[in-house]
Amino acid sequence: MRIVLFGPPGAGKGTQANLLAERKSLAHISTGMLLRAAMKAGTQLGRKAGEYVNSGRLVPDTIVRSLAEEAISDDIEGFVLDGYPRTVQQAEWLTSFLGERSAPLQAIICIKIREEVIISRLSKRRVHRKTGDNYHLDFRPPPPNVDASALVQRPDDRPEAIKKRLSEYHRATEPVISYYEEDEAFFSVDGEGDVKDVRRRIDDVLERALAAASSRP
Ligand code: AMP
Repeated sequence: MRIVLFGPPGAGKGTQANLLAERKSLAHISTGMLLRAAMKAGTQLGRKAGEYVNSGRLVPDTIVRSLAEEAISDDIEGFVLDGYPRTVQQAEWLTSFLGERSAPLQAIICIKIREEVIISRLSKRRVHRKTGDNYHLDFRPPPPNVDASALVQRPDDRPEAIKKRLSEYHRATEPVISYYEEDEAFFSVDGEGDVKDVRRRIDDVLERALAAASSRP
């Protein structure tokens, strides 16, 4: 199964993609995670991407595409794409890349969430430096056995970067909704509320997407 999860920053794409990938035994492909790994490893690509990521700007298409292409090629039979595509150009490339391999998307799921909820989620998010686990200071506080000094704020979760990410979302990523909207595999889900509630909504949508895909000639 091939699924795209997209939506604004803070919509919970990463959390839901992770759960979905586990449940359905799919590869979880997050371009944000791949970029952060390259930055941490100090590769040439990582150094180029770092200034964009840390300031909340989108990384140029050609850089992200090389990461996406390699990851998708490795797991073309089953993946959840998280955070890709983020521009119409990326969506067009993905359509033609998958089309050439007769491997269409079965579900394109857009997670919707209000801007004030996004800001609260991102500004209060903390990440464990070693495990990469995500917490929220109010709604998902770290358990007592987690060393608080290992929790850090992502540079792009600081107020200025959040603002930039939101404006990049409106400018470049929102048009991707129009790109996919007419597709039978496109669905929107409400991303607010509990992780479990959102998970349930995604499961419902997936059932419908699978039924629609199997009835296609
Ligand atoms: P994320 O972990 O999905 O929130 O992504 C973190 C950051 O990585 C984004 O704010 C961008 O700077 C960069 N990034 C991730 N995916 C893409 C993409 N598809 N296109 C451009 N930049 C991306």
